[in-house]
Amino acid sequence: MTKAKKKRVIKTIAIDADKCNGCRGCEVICSAFHSAPQYGSTNPARSRIRIVRDPLADIYIPVFGGEYTAAECTGRSEYTIDGKKYDACAFCRASCPSRDAFKEPDSDLPLKCDMCVSDPSLKEPMCVQWCLAGALTYIEREEEAEEAETVEELDAGLAALADKHGWQKLVDAVSRISKKQ
Ligand code: SF4
Ligand code: SF4
Repeated sequence: MTKAKKKRVIKTIAIDADKCNGCRGCEVICSAFHSAPQYGSTNPARSRIRIVRDPLADIYIPVFGGEYTAAECTGRSEYTIDGKKYDACAFCRASCPSRDAFKEPDSDLPLKCDMCVSDPSLKEPMCVQWCLAGALTYIEREEEAEEAETVEELDAGLAALADKHGWQKLVDAVSRISKKQ
């Protein structure tokens, strides 16, 4: 049987660290865009992008908030850039128990970059729009997805419905609908 293929959009922000000047405009607008009400406050501690800064060495490296993890990792990487050693966790994207990065300051809830998904959708994520230095570039590309991914999506959709209504109601509804077919 031929596998059904469908397109999916992969969104990427390319980072050119050489162009970053450490202005932190991206942190400010990210926190403002995600505040409630929107643009009601600015607090870089709530941003989903953070700039690792070493002004004396003129090094600024943007890092985007990634996945939440409940456990600290068991191995870490040490970085040396232009002769300066960085903390083993400096460039990590995870929201994890070992540090405060990428966590809501009040609630400790994890903060992950969501590419500024909104309705209506933005032409480009806010941090990209605000980066006047051109260090952040938004790239969209289409990729073919296999049928297996469609099945995963179906599983995720069913699990979400079950969370909301309970499995038994879901099974009853499927059985009811199938009898009408
Ligand atoms: S807005 Fe651009 S130049 Fe400024 S800190 Fe962020 S990535 Fe760097
Ligand atoms: S893409 Fe949006 S959510 Fe992600 S860091 Fe930039 S402003 Fe924040």
